[in-house]
Amino acid sequence: MKRVLILGSTGSIGRQALEVIKQHPEEFKVVGLSAFDNSELLAQQANEFKPSMVAIVRDSSCISELLNYKCHIITGEDAPARLVEACAADIVLNSIVGIAGLMPTVSALKKGVTLALANKESMVTAGEIIVSMAREKNTAILPVDSEHSAIFQCLQKPEGYGEIKRIILTASGGPFRDYTVDMLKDVTVDQALKHPTWSMGQKITIDSATLMNKGFEVIEAHWFFGVEYDDIEVVIHPESVVHSMVEFIDGAVLAQMGVPDMRLPIQYALSYPQRLRGMIKPLDLRGLTLTFRKPDCEKFRCLQLAYDAALKGGTYPAVLNAANEVLVDLFLKGALRFLDIPVFIEEALNRHSPIYNPSLEDIIYADWRTRDAVKKMVVN
Ligand code: NAD
Ligand code: MG
Repeated sequence: MKRVLILGSTGSIGRQALEVIKQHPEEFKVVGLSAFDNSELLAQQANEFKPSMVAIVRDSSCISELLNYKCHIITGEDAPARLVEACAADIVLNSIVGIAGLMPTVSALKKGVTLALANKESMVTAGEIIVSMAREKNTAILPVDSEHSAIFQCLQKPEGYGEIKRIILTASGGPFRDYTVDMLKDVTVDQALKHPTWSMGQKITIDSATLMNKGFEVIEAHWFFGVEYDDIEVVIHPESVVHSMVEFIDGAVLAQMGVPDMRLPIQYALSYPQRLRGMIKPLDLRGLTLTFRKPDCEKFRCLQLAYDAALKGGTYPAVLNAANEVLVDLFLKGALRFLDIPVFIEEALNRHSPIYNPSLEDIIYADWRTRDAVKKMVVN
């Protein structure tokens, strides 16, 4: 029985992780749950799964009244990281959105607990630090993102990463994949939130519409699998059936396929190295046409900006992420146009004075400075 701690349990990944766990009560026991706010849903989940501890950042005043059993409650800005420190778990699933997931990732690695990582922003901003911490502690980081899970599933032997020639990341292309730049000028929040194949949290849905999500995944793939950026290729694959591919040095290409359903990669990260009975629909290839094409980086500038920031390294990816978080939030609030997102990200990157081989503190400072700078840029 694996003891599982879920950070961000009220979100899209967190809720699906609980569905997976519910299907396998003999395999998993939930020992901790965390949320930003929404104490009602957190309490409902806790009352069902009975973890010994919960953590909540805001909206914590009524949580103790909502819980119907004895449970330790941790509150405050750093509640998720403190939960990781306090709770005895075999695996931590980090499904917090944004850089808020970075310190909990660090806490899990410091403790040497296996980390199932959905929070791609920690890998994007601090990949080098995270990977070296995991190596030092001999701790596994298991991918939850469907593309990275696909690649991980294609790599049958952990020592075989040196045999990878190229990684081919698939992207649905988002709701605007066939739009012209002219059509992109006036897209609304509602249109951007209508993802053609995946149902996800709001931030990643907008990132999928701009293709920044794919840019983040390129960086994620670089750190997860140690592959150079020149050897990570993105292809648009609207059907979302091939979740990604690996080309090996001998020319063999392996793909992992399936219906698009995050419960599979979540379950694989939790059950690894075993496979458990799944709950997703079977794939019916009859009548399916699978297509692949090059992404248009002129139209979707965020993807190119991510490659550029990744190649520059240092604190640039942290700036890319911070600017994006602020701008996506403004777009969701109706305060910014869709096409302004890459414009301001580029400006933030151009204005940045980088630090190479940054410490965690340097990354957090770059994040903080960028947020402030981008908010001022947008107002002026
Ligand atoms: P979501 O918005 O649905 O959920 C986010 C969760 O994080 C919630 O539980 C929320 O309470 C918590 N949270 C938000 N801000 C917080 C803060 N400041 N401190 C502590 N907790 C906070 O997001 P999601 O779609 O579930 O995505 C979660 C992560 O997984 C993201 O990094 C995303 O990129 C990644 N991911 C998601 C999907 C998907 O299908 N949803 C797929 C691949 C990767
Ligand atoms: Mg993905």
